[in-house]
Amino acid sequence: MSEATIIDGKALAARVQERVRAAVEELRERHGLVPGLAVVLVGDDPASRVYVRNKGRRTVEAGMKSFEYHLPADTTEEALLERIARLNAASEVHGILVQLPLPEQINPQRVIDAIDPDKDVDGFHVINAGRLAVGRPALVPCTPLGCVLLARQARADLEGLEAVIIGRSNIVGKPLAQLLLRENCTVTIAHSRTRDLPRVAHRADVLVAAVGRPRLVRGDWIKPGATVIDVGINRVETGDGKARLVGDVAFDEAKAVAGAITPVPGGVGPMTIAMLLTNAVKAACMQRGIALPRALEDL
Ligand code: NDP
Repeated sequence: MSEATIIDGKALAARVQERVRAAVEELRERHGLVPGLAVVLVGDDPASRVYVRNKGRRTVEAGMKSFEYHLPADTTEEALLERIARLNAASEVHGILVQLPLPEQINPQRVIDAIDPDKDVDGFHVINAGRLAVGRPALVPCTPLGCVLLARQARADLEGLEAVIIGRSNIVGKPLAQLLLRENCTVTIAHSRTRDLPRVAHRADVLVAAVGRPRLVRGDWIKPGATVIDVGINRVETGDGKARLVGDVAFDEAKAVAGAITPVPGGVGPMTIAMLLTNAVKAACMQRGIALPRALEDL
């Protein structure tokens, strides 16, 4: 059997970003609307600083307004909630993202609950989770949105396929299950208490690993020809004092069996920011009662 096709998340993300740029241009010309995205970072976590810088850069590249707030690590929950209240009220801000994780004195749930659901571009607010679950227009978490687009690269039509998602978090596994149901997949969510995980995974035409365990999914867990989406980002030591990123799937084993597979890095990761930009445009359109520009209609 031939080796799996590698699904190029970087290239797909660049195409999505280009569509966002075209949509933003149309909104500016036709409606005088420039979507604005605010990102709030509390503390100095180096990885979070890099994410926030990238988000800001991509937002500007797409023609949107970027508002960045770097608050000190000892910021109180009250001060952060006050900042969010101001962003909720600001008419030029259409999307608000608070970078997680937050310092321990701040309860992340209270912070997420405080964001106006219509500006919740991460899609973590309980109102958006509920809207997604009942099939109403919602802002949907970015990583699961990216996973569906990546799966569609391999199979244009996901209808009727067996999808198995390993991981049941509120930010990846559960919303992804809702999205794959919407695609008419038959969905199974597996987790740490699942019995005989290799057998459950082997049923999947579309297998998504969102666990956070390096190389948990082995080649013999995968049904021949399956589409494999690897969400995991794990830093592992290479032995020479260096570290590298690997996914939740044993990539070399898996690519000998799967039909298509996303690499780590270069798969799901790049799609997350691209979908964030898409969500910011969607939020701006929803707030202004404007139809989504054609360029973004099927995203
Ligand atoms: P969580 O830790 O919130 O959830 C992990 C899930 O995996 C849980 O449901 C847990 O089960 C399950 N699990 C843990 N161990 C096992 C096991 N041995 N067998 C089966 N299931 C197991 O993680 P997230 O959903 O936030 O993230 C998952 C991974 O995706 C991480 O590596 C993270 O870094 C990455 N990620 C990547 C993103 C990207 O942009 N590419 C964005 C977000 C996350 P249980 O519920 O029973 O505990």
